[in-house]
Amino acid sequence: MPVLKADFEACQGYGNCLTGAPDAYDIDDDGVVVLLKQEITDEERPRIEEAARSCPVSALTVEDS
Ligand code: SF4
Repeated sequence: MPVLKADFEACQGYGNCLTGAPDAYDIDDDGVVVLLKQEITDEERPRIEEAARSCPVSALTVEDS
């Protein structure tokens, strides 16, 4: 299954990722992205990958496990 990865050091808390995939990404009280799940299905991958690409600092990736 595809796996979600995040560079927590790079995240600037813009929140773009939440817009497209609020089921996968959230932001904590410190303004850092939180992964709401580790693995995603192939069906939801295109949507979540698009949300990952919307990150201005490229902190998010979807990788093959
Ligand atoms: S879009 Fe990028 S910088 Fe913004 S909260 Fe998501 S991971 Fe962090």
